[in-house]
Amino acid sequence: MGTQSYKPDGGEVGGELDLVKTPDGNMVVRCRNCAYGNIFHQPYPYHAGFGNQGFLYNDAGNRTLIWSTFDPAYCSAVGSVHPWVLDSSQRLALESKLLESTTGGRWAFGNPARCLQCHEPISGPITDTIYYLQYDDSVDADEGLKLGQFIRSSA
Ligand SMILES: [Zn+2]
Repeated sequence: MGTQSYKPDGGEVGGELDLVKTPDGNMVVRCRNCAYGNIFHQPYPYHAGFGNQGFLYNDAGNRTLIWSTFDPAYCSAVGSVHPWVLDSSQRLALESKLLESTTGGRWAFGNPARCLQCHEPISGPITDTIYYLQYDDSVDADEGLKLGQFIRSSA
């Protein structure tokens, strides 16, 4: 792995979550546009740097793709570099190899997490914030290092 220590710490959207933790271990992210309470079945916003993970949202901003920095399919696409420090050509290289989400379009570094009701951004992409939201029915390719299952076979 590289030795870069830089981590994004909140852009225009990320880092400014209007967040409430619920007694049952979930959290609600309030949309600043429509005030809808988006429920996430996670106890807190996950920190990709602590977990050595990458994350992307789909075009619709309603699914999350999560993978490991150490996933062989990821390393073969961009090299041994953490996902939050990829340059633009490495981002494009990875995006072009990924299969589309089963719903809501492509996985892309420019996609924010979006409100499930009004579709305005509620949290930034990995280029803005190291914290991510895991939508229901997301793709966790970290468990089992299986990002290769979501890579185009012809890429
Ligand atoms: Zn909203």
